[in-house]
Amino acid sequence: MINNIMLYPNGKAKALTFSYDDGEKKDIRLVQLFNKYGLKGTFNLNSGLMTVEPDESSSKVALSQIPEVYKGHEVAVHTVNHPFLERMTTTEIIDEILEDRRTLEKYTGYVVRGMAYPFGTYNDDVIRVAKDLGIAYSRGVHSHYGFGLTDKWLEMPATCHQAYDKIFDLADKFVNGKVTADWRSAAGWLFYIWGHSFEYRTEEDWERMEKLCAYLSNRDDVWYATNIEIYDYVVAYRSLCYSADMQSVYNPSGIDVWLMHRGEVCKIPARTEVKF
Ligand SMILES: [Zn+2]
Repeated sequence: MINNIMLYPNGKAKALTFSYDDGEKKDIRLVQLFNKYGLKGTFNLNSGLMTVEPDESSSKVALSQIPEVYKGHEVAVHTVNHPFLERMTTTEIIDEILEDRRTLEKYTGYVVRGMAYPFGTYNDDVIRVAKDLGIAYSRGVHSHYGFGLTDKWLEMPATCHQAYDKIFDLADKFVNGKVTADWRSAAGWLFYIWGHSFEYRTEEDWERMEKLCAYLSNRDDVWYATNIEIYDYVVAYRSLCYSADMQSVYNPSGIDVWLMHRGEVCKIPARTEVKF
């Protein structure tokens, strides 16, 4: 039995997020699907492969469409040109990440801090450079088929790829599973699904995705959030400061945090100390 376990905003026990790469035009349909079911995702874009204005000959969303297409979701770095970063010089890695950030920030109008590695590949040098350039988290293509949270944000794993043949079994486990005080990893559950919208090639593919979205939506105990919202929340939770006797907790962050203390749901407001 542990004293405290992490809950998500408003005491929800679980979170669901999506991460889609490459900014293909099918993102438009996917975002509409997410919006229909109240789901949130992160879209990792290659600014150098996108035209400024919509172009029929391009398979990608245009830069000028970003605010409208991805409204309510997160836009994140996927590098300018989609190279194998680990094969590049440090200067080239810097250019690929920083220039993508610069362009995406120009079109989104906000600070872009998320990333997914092109091809999911990286090495220590790539991780260090990404971190130095202000990237908060970056996803690879590793799936762990579970709901645990990472503490290696720059090697962020996923639960599974969207085309995983047993994804509905995982969805069942996620929906029906109970987060309890003796749960091993002492953190809220995260169901993290990644993919590319161009993988939905047939209407059956879209129907399967809609079925999944419908099944996972409108759950009282699930927080629907973008990748960066989850990152910011978990970092705030992990920065809680406990008194030596564990009877008080101070939240130094600007984000309200929830936890389960001996089976009770507690809210720890931003910059506030709470006695148990
Ligand atoms: Zn990609």
